Formats: sequence, structure tokens, C-alpha cells
Amino acid sequence: MQITAAVVREKSGPFIIDEIELTDPRADEVVVKIVASGMCQTDLHGRDGYYNTPYPCVYGHEGAGIVEAAGASVKSLSLGDHVVISFPWCGACPNCQRDMHSHCMKGFDLKMRGTRADGSTLMRKNGTPVFSAFFQQSSFATYAVANENFVAKVRKDAPLELLGPFACSGQTGAGAVLNSMKPKPGDAIAIFGVGAVGLSGMMAARVAGCDPIIAVDIHDNRLKLAHDLGATHTINHAGRTDIVAAIRKITGDGVRFSLETSAQPVVFREAVEALMPAGTCVLLGSARSGTEVAFDMPFLQFGRTIRGVIQGESHPREFIPHLVDLLMAGKMPVERMMTFYNLADINRAAQDSTTGAAIKPVLRMPH
Ligand SMILES: [Zn+2]
Ligand SMILES: [Zn+2]
Repeated sequence: MQITAAVVREKSGPFIIDEIELTDPRADEVVVKIVASGMCQTDLHGRDGYYNTPYPCVYGHEGAGIVEAAGASVKSLSLGDHVVISFPWCGACPNCQRDMHSHCMKGFDLKMRGTRADGSTLMRKNGTPVFSAFFQQSSFATYAVANENFVAKVRKDAPLELLGPFACSGQTGAGAVLNSMKPKPGDAIAIFGVGAVGLSGMMAARVAGCDPIIAVDIHDNRLKLAHDLGATHTINHAGRTDIVAAIRKITGDGVRFSLETSAQPVVFREAVEALMPAGTCVLLGSARSGTEVAFDMPFLQFGRTIRGVIQGESHPREFIPHLVDLLMAGKMPVERMMTFYNLADINRAAQDSTTGAAIKPVLRMPH
């Protein structure tokens, strides 16, 4: 079918709105009419060649929409279902066999290679392949094809245009807290960086009853929003070197949990040094290969844990509906961090994401 998509033709080139051809779904795939798609830093890193995804390419991996067509063997989804398309996994590797889909050992290729696992693309223009299947979806388009295993069905009374970011940034932050940390009420937590991922983690920490909830960032407007969304304390990092002392002043012994989303080595070290004995720091910040950080060995010896987490270690088909329930109950007001753009304004959305003017851009598709 003919669709409208935002195509990037060269490294760091602009998104160009174009009419292209979307393939028919295979037996285990669905066609989703995309209502809205979040934009994530990973899309822009893809555009800029970080993952060596070939060009021309269609990005987008936070698609929300309505099932428009389904392959013959699709059982779990029906036409008209409201859905969010999440991350892909292979199902066969040692981690998938342990049900650790977010740590799939083929996950990187499935997300970044620009094709299905067998090398086929989902989109074409005048007979020439357009690399697509970014995160096995490429949702910066009016329609997307996705394997049913990666598609989460959600309740129909929830506003679809708010749900796309649960596919990546939302579950990355919220899942790191609810699935990986599993805090108890009254546990102290510090969130380093309150962008879309950090705020999602912070709202989840509030749901879990964490107290205090300390937000650290360099932007006053983000700290104000963090306060509105449940931070008990906010600290502006700009120009300060006593962040760990400030956190110990609030907590006494340090925090049980810290969440690192900034990808800055200095901040990562602070997130670890703010821990109480046996505390855990979860690293979400996505640093470039070669970035190193140093820690004091005796400090880590006291039961402190550092771990990296991908996609909130979630099973999206269960976890995303749970997050939607929290949204509908008023406990995860994600709309507070969103700025909406028409697909035609995608380059402005990308610029606002880079400058920080928008915390979470969401693209509305023309239909
Ligand atoms: Zn796997
Ligand atoms: Zn993402």
C-alpha cells in the first residue's frame, strides 16, 4: 500500500516527507495505522549514523495506532485493536530462552539493521528498497508493519496519541524502577537527569511509594516539572561539585536506589557514590562506545550494585497495558512532558529534542 513516511536519505540529512510503498504483512505480522509516534534520541542517533543503519531509512520506534490488517496466523490481535509497537527480540538466543527479551542477543541487529531478520525491507520507493524495520517498525509513517509478538494491545478508552512513548522511553524509565529495582515504600531514590526517561522512572518511583525522591538535573524548568510530578527534593547540578553531599544531607546514609540517565561519566560516578551500603545504581544513560568511568573499589565492596538495564527489562505486552492503567488512573501523567508536532514538522521536532526545548516530541500522523 502507498503510505506517507519521513525518509532520511543520507547521514545527518533532513527528514523528507515522501510517498512510498509499504509491503503486505506476512502471516505473523499486522499492519498498524499509526496515530502518533514518539521521537527518541535513538531515532536521531540512527539518523546521524551511530548504528550504521543504511540509507535511505525510515526511523521511529514508539508507534501507537490501530490494527488495520492482520496476517493469516495472527491470533492475539484483531482488526480495530488499539496497540503500541514495542522492541523486537529473537526468541531463540540464550537470553530470550530465559525470558529476558530486552537483553536479546540479536536485539541490536533487529533494531538497527533496517531490515527484517531475513534481510528484507518493509518499504520501497519506485522498486528500490527503503531501509525500514527500525526496531522492526519504522513508525515515522502513516502505517507500519510489525510482528504480532512485538505489538502490545491496550485499552480503547486511553488516548492513543499519548501512548507511543510507553514503547521505549516510558517503559525504559518506569521498568527500571518497577521491574529491575522493585523498591519498597519508603526507599530513598535519586534520579539523575529528568528528561523523558528519568521522569518516567520518577513517576514510577512515586507509584512504588519511594520517599524521598530526589531529582537532579541542570535545567530549572525540568526540575520544576519533576517537582510537580512527585519529586520531594530537586537539585540543580549546574556549577556544583557537592551533589553527593547534598543527597547525603537529605537522606543521612545515602539512597537505596539511583537512576542514571545522563550518560555523563561524572554524573554516573555521583549516582554510585550517592548509594547507601547494598544500594543499587541502574544505568540507563546511553554513552558512546569508549566512554570510561572510575570508581573507588572499597566503596563498591559494601554490597553496592551497578547494573545496566535495557527497555526496563519489561515484557511490553503485559507492562505497557499496566502503564496505560496508571496513566488512566492519573498516576502517570505523561502528557505533562510531551510536545506535539505534525509529521510534516518532524525536523523542528528533532531540533527541539536536541536543544532540550521539547522533553518528549510526539508526531501526529496525517490521515
Ligand atoms: Zn533473543
Ligand atoms: Zn527509544
